[in-house]
Amino acid sequence: MSFQEERVNRLLTAIFSAHQDECIDCETCCEQFDCLVELVNSGANLREILPAVEEHLRCCPDCNEEFQALMSIIRAETSGLLAADYENRPPAE
Ligand SMILES: [Zn+2]
Repeated sequence: MSFQEERVNRLLTAIFSAHQDECIDCETCCEQFDCLVELVNSGANLREILPAVEEHLRCCPDCNEEFQALMSIIRAETSGLLAADYENRPPAE
């Protein structure tokens, strides 16, 4: 099992335990971000894979801001890599 798969597995376990009370706190929410941004960036639908987190992001500006920041970083990294390949220069920070 790859490291990535292990992280996804742990995430899924967290999802199902979080699902039981439908309500997660900021700490639980933020713990998912690392893995989550990668999944969302690769095309996953947050509402489908993690409705509890999606719900939390809608009512928690702090976590939403954090999540959006991570998403823009991973998007910049993704497009930065493509741009670097294309234009032969390092991706912008
Ligand atoms: Zn929060």
